[in-house]
This record gives sequence, C-alpha cells and structure tokens, in this order.
Amino acid sequence: MPGIPSPPITQHIGSIMSTTPIEYDVIVIGAGPAGYVAAIRCAQLGFKTACIDDWSNTKGLASPGGTFVNAGCISSMSLLESSKIYHLLNNEISSHGIKIDNLEIDLALTIQRKDSIINSLSHHITKLFDHNKIDCIHGLGKLLSSEVVEVLKNNTKKPQLLTAEHIILATGSHSSELPCSPIDHEFIIGSTEALNLKEAPKRLGIIGAGIIGLELAGIWNRFGSDVILLEAQDSFLTSTDQQISDEAYQIFSKQGLDIRLGARVISAKKASKKVILEYQDHQGKHHTLHLDKLIVASGREPNTDNLSAAEADLLLDENGFVHVDNNCCTTLPGVYAIGDLTALGPMLAHKGIEEGIFVAENIAEKHSPINYDIIPSVIYTSPEIAWVGQSEQALKAIGEDYKIGIFPFSASARSLASGKTEGLVKIITHRETDKILGVHIIGDQASELIAEAVLAMEFSASAEDLARTIHAHPSISEALHEAALALDNRALHLPPDY
Ligand code: NAD
Repeated sequence: MPGIPSPPITQHIGSIMSTTPIEYDVIVIGAGPAGYVAAIRCAQLGFKTACIDDWSNTKGLASPGGTFVNAGCISSMSLLESSKIYHLLNNEISSHGIKIDNLEIDLALTIQRKDSIINSLSHHITKLFDHNKIDCIHGLGKLLSSEVVEVLKNNTKKPQLLTAEHIILATGSHSSELPCSPIDHEFIIGSTEALNLKEAPKRLGIIGAGIIGLELAGIWNRFGSDVILLEAQDSFLTSTDQQISDEAYQIFSKQGLDIRLGARVISAKKASKKVILEYQDHQGKHHTLHLDKLIVASGREPNTDNLSAAEADLLLDENGFVHVDNNCCTTLPGVYAIGDLTALGPMLAHKGIEEGIFVAENIAEKHSPINYDIIPSVIYTSPEIAWVGQSEQALKAIGEDYKIGIFPFSASARSLASGKTEGLVKIITHRETDKILGVHIIGDQASELIAEAVLAMEFSASAEDLARTIHAHPSISEALHEAALALDNRALHLPPDY
C-alpha cells in the first residue's frame, strides 16, 4: 500500500511460511531457452527441480518457452518462411516455368499457422518438464533471499514459498521503450505486436535497423509494405564484418527497403489514424514522415523489475543487468543468472542455452566451460547473415596479420540451380599460423552453413583443414570449402573477374 513501508524480509517470509515451503535442490525462475534448458539439465543430473514461469497463452494456461517461443524468434521464423513463399510465388515462380493466377494471401491464416507452431513448441516443453519430473509452476517468481523464492501463482493469486540451495535466474529481456516514441499498441507498436499484424501496413516505419528491425522489415516488405528503416548510427550493422554489411545494405536496398542511416528520431505520435514521425538526419536537417504503422525496435533490456526483494541485495550493474562473474554466479551464494539477464556475452538464445547447461553442470561439480569467443550470430533476413569470430575491421584495429579467402554464391553450382546466388563466404585466417579467426557469410542458409565454421574453430582447425575436407558436390557448403581454397589462390570455381 502506498506510504506504508514493506515489512522486514524475515517477518514477510515468516508470514508466508505458515503455508509450508516446498523444498527443492534447484529452483529456476524463467522458462525461456536459458531457463527451461537449465531445468532439464538439472533434472537429468538428479536434482529435484522446479521451474517457475508466468507466461500465459490466450486461454490463460501456462506457455513455457519465454519470448523466444511465444513472441519472438519462433514467430519471426514462421512469418519469415511464409513471407518468403509468398514473395517467391509472386515474383520468382515464373522463372521456374510455373504459372499462378490470382494469388492471394490471408494474413489472418498466416498468423494462425504461426500461433499453432508456438502452441506445439510450448506444449513440447511442458512434456519435457513432465518427462524429467520437473515441477513447472505457473506464476511470478521473486527472489526473497539466497535460498528462498516466493511464487504468486497465476490461478490462485496466493503466495507460496519455495526453498532451494541453488537458484537460477533466467527471466530474459523485453523491448526497450523510446521516450520520444511511446508505444500505443495500435499505431506505434513493439516487436511482439509487429509479429501479429493481420494486414500489411501500406507505409511502415521501423525505428532501429538492428537485428530485430531488419528481420521485421524483410517480412513486411515481402508481404507488401513499403518499409522505411530509421537508424541513428551513421553506419549499417556495425557488429557485422564491414564487407558483409556493405553487401547486405546493397541487397536489402535492392529489395526495396528504404534504409536511412544517421536518422535520429525526435518524436512520433498518432494523428488521425496515421503516425507522424519527425527525425533529424546526420546533417541536422529535420524530416517529417506520415506512416500507417511504426515499429520500435531500438534494443532490449533485462527483466529485473520485481525479480528480487530489495532485502535480498541482488547486485545489478548500471544498465540494470544482474551482475555476474565469468561463471554466471551473482553476488549471492548459490544464486546464478543466465541468458539475456546478464551482460556476459550477447543477447542470443543459444548463449543462454549454453549457460543453462553450464550452471547446471557446475552445481553438479562437473566442469564444462563456455567459449564466449566462438558463439555464432545469425540475422534471419533473406538472405541470412551469419558469422563467428572476429570481423576484418576488428582484426585491423588490433594490428593482426591476417589473410582473407572469399567465395561468392554466384559461382556455386548448387546456388545457381536453386536461384539463390546472392552473397558470399569470407574466411579470415592468421597469415602465419593459418588459424581461422573469423567466418562471415551472407547468403541462403547462412544460419546452417555457419555451424561448420563454428565446429572448425571449436576444434582449432586451420583453414587448410577446411580446404582438405571433402564437401558434397553440388552443395551450398562447397562455398566454405572454396573460400578456404581461395586463401591460397587455389579456389577452383572462382570467376576470373572476381
Ligand atoms: P539492436 O541493438 O541490434 O538494434 C537496435 C538499433 O536501433 C541500433 O542499431 C540503434 O542504433 C538503433 N536506435 C536506437 N535508438 C534509436 C533512435 N532513437 N532512432 C533511430 N535508431 C535508433 O537491438 P534489436 O534489434 O532490438 O535486438 C535486441 C537484442 O536481441 C540484440 O542483442 C539481438 O542480438 C537480440 N536478438 C537476436 C536475434 C537473432 O539472433 N536473430 C533476433 C532478435 C533479437
């Protein structure tokens, strides 16, 4: 109640203790990819485990999987595929000698398909919990101390206390809000709502040409929207190798995306069923846009609000991330934080998954270090962008002696046959040792191709090892083989003018 101070923590625990606390070996708060995997691995290792998650589906039932399954990557992946098929049928199918008249799209059905994929994935996680005898508790978890968690159950709304020697925090992240562009959930929307639109907005603005902005831009562009991306930075995709981001900029611009760099949004507001957006370009000139919808995709921040009671003394950093050491240990004994909740490594599902396994195995006193230097990144655009290791600009900045091998997909027989010839593979190695320092790909199935590069780097392979590995012919993966050969000017199918 406002004005009335909270009771001291011991008194608070004492008052709920009358409901008899349930004891576990491990409690996980959050059932996103990091949390549910941590729970499964803990259960596999013999720990009595509970996983608390408050996500509800449209029927009010538990829907484990976090943003990743319920409102993020899986939705994006599903709509990416639907939009690619629609675009192919609309624009490219005639080149295969196939004619289609009166092609129509019912976006409500497209969204329904996406929702049923979400439901089945979430159901699958529930089954995995059951199979591993994990108590899946549908409610809001809060850390009261290093051994006590309070759950406010979704059905009863009554608090229940749980205790455990080990507690894993995995509550993920949410989209950041921009004060200059407040979300009204109708015309100015976040990325979750942008994956539920029942019709393509005619003129769609997106703030942020980062990973989420680009993935959404591609989807709605292929569904028929005119998309304008407003990016505050003067350069495009700064975390990517410069050559790849230049290639991506050209490909996406050719596809019709209007990418405005150095565009700092000053204000956006709804006015008679439109959004009026004002931005300043890199020369300080003001511009006004009239849009049918605006998506804000300007970054994500950790879900730490109400995660722990003040008395628990969980230390956060200046950006609100849970402070952890290199072993995902927080400042509280036996309490760990993993996934998007910490600033350790990038905000990627597979990083969180690996940390979930790592923490579970550490609790079991098994040693399974994470190699944060070899985490693949993927942007699910069309074509996809994927990379692992260091970019050329980063290596140049530290004065590394490197060399480069490049192979374009336009010279790959398999890519030609499938009509997906955009993009290239770029391998960077140490000039003396031939150690692979970075692999950067833009092209069809880059998300799958990068796995070979990750494996090679994880096993400390040299580029020569890749060059001497037999790849199926014809296959898209040959582009990696050819890029490895190109490091020594012995690529077999590289066009002379390349
Ligand atoms: P991001 O940081 O990748 O991009 C946000 C962009 O918005 C930045 O380029 C920033 O300069 C720009 N921006 C911020 N304020 C602005 C303003 N006022 N005007 C114009 N531009 C502005 O963030 P994101 O795309 O929201 O993604 C968030 C996180 O989620 C990332 O860490 C990403 O790795 C992760 N993610 C990954 C995937 C994937 O693996 N495919 C998918 C979704 C999200």
